[in-house]
Amino acid sequence: MRPSIRNEIKIKEEERANTLFISLFFITVILYDVYRFIISPLIDPHTDMILLNDTSFIIPFILIYLLEVSLIPISRWYSNKQLPYVTKYLFFIVFMVSSLMTEIFHYVGTSDVYASGSPVELFFILFSPLFVNKKFYMIVVGGVISKYAIMGTLTMSPIVVLPILLLLLFSVITFIILNRFQSYLDTIVESYERASHNEKLAAIGRIATGITHEIKNPLTSLKGFVQLQDLEKTYNPKYSRIMLQELERLTIIVNDLIVIGKPQSTHLKPVVIKDCLEYVVNLLEQEAERKQITIYTSYPEERLQVMGEDVRLKQVFLNMVKNAIEAMPHGGEIRVSLLKEKEWTTIQIKDRGVGIPKEAIPQLNQAFYSTKENGTGLGLMVSYKIVEDYHGKIDVQSEVNQGTTFSISFPTLSQFSADTVVKLSANQGNYHMK
Ligand code: ADP
Ligand code: MG
Repeated sequence: MRPSIRNEIKIKEEERANTLFISLFFITVILYDVYRFIISPLIDPHTDMILLNDTSFIIPFILIYLLEVSLIPISRWYSNKQLPYVTKYLFFIVFMVSSLMTEIFHYVGTSDVYASGSPVELFFILFSPLFVNKKFYMIVVGGVISKYAIMGTLTMSPIVVLPILLLLLFSVITFIILNRFQSYLDTIVESYERASHNEKLAAIGRIATGITHEIKNPLTSLKGFVQLQDLEKTYNPKYSRIMLQELERLTIIVNDLIVIGKPQSTHLKPVVIKDCLEYVVNLLEQEAERKQITIYTSYPEERLQVMGEDVRLKQVFLNMVKNAIEAMPHGGEIRVSLLKEKEWTTIQIKDRGVGIPKEAIPQLNQAFYSTKENGTGLGLMVSYKIVEDYHGKIDVQSEVNQGTTFSISFPTLSQFSADTVVKLSANQGNYHMK
């Protein structure tokens, strides 16, 4: 899995765990407070109505509630900064510090016997495996037990030994659950990675077979003509022409394959699209004429530019216009147009050729998909890769026997970040999308 994708999944999972954790936290806190301040005094008259009778208790009590509620927008803010991992620590620390303070305030120096802490602490221990994070688990267990130890020492109360023992028992149980979670997750990740590795090997195998096949044909033919030339011992221009054609074909295949192996380019520059299109149309005009095809072009006044590399963009348009020509064996017309639509600069290549059946469209970007006798099935695959590298997209509209329109869209220059513009003037690479 690509690290960025893995990170994205991790962040999403953490956000889900946070939502569950925050909801359960407030449910536990509210239920516990309703019980100790309302229900318990009602059913047991010996319990003091402390919340209602003691005003010095109400203010810190409300403050703590406000503080805890304010953690919700704070954790959302961290989430937006791609840091959802902070939330659980925030809640734990705020709760523990405030509960330690109120307990010190309530018990130390008074004759009240220290009655052990709250079920919210137990909640933290029981639900810490939710995050499958051993560090958080250790901090929770260590934090809660230390709080009991501190309170026991401050109030000289041996009562704390029992809750500490109980908490230790719960900690062991949750540790076992956490470990199971962890090893379950590790197994899933491992088997996923093994599967994707096998898949990659299979894809490499398929591509290698395809390449061998593609290259072997022209090579065999070249060998044959060299042998023929040798046998006849005279120069035959017909053979040379065919040999040149085969060499040309090999060059096209190799050029296409270079793009596949190339890592994504970071050296993008603004390229004037009209110049690329004119270059391609000029190059193919004669071939089109021979096949009784007219290429019409339409460009807007505005000098539209896209972020990319001149040579590669020409390669894309060359592939597409060539395909359009090849789709019209009986002649016709091709329309090449350039337009700007909101945030996209779009190049349309429209033919009135054989068209592409709907079910074949998903295969267009796959290697070696070709319906032509001499096709390599690499042109479109390479074009898709180049367009993707430049943050663009390709749309195909086609009707069998009616024609095909390829629309290639790139984000307008204004969508690249501000440092792009600075680097642009310095004429160097590394451009990033906003
Ligand atoms: P190749 O041209 O070598 O066959 P491509 O990757 O360029 O390989 O194209 C793959 C296939 O997509 C073609 O064989 C053809 O079936 C189909 N195709 C591409 N462009 C068009 C078009 N304009 N009209 C009809 N079919 C097309
Ligand atoms: Mg092609």
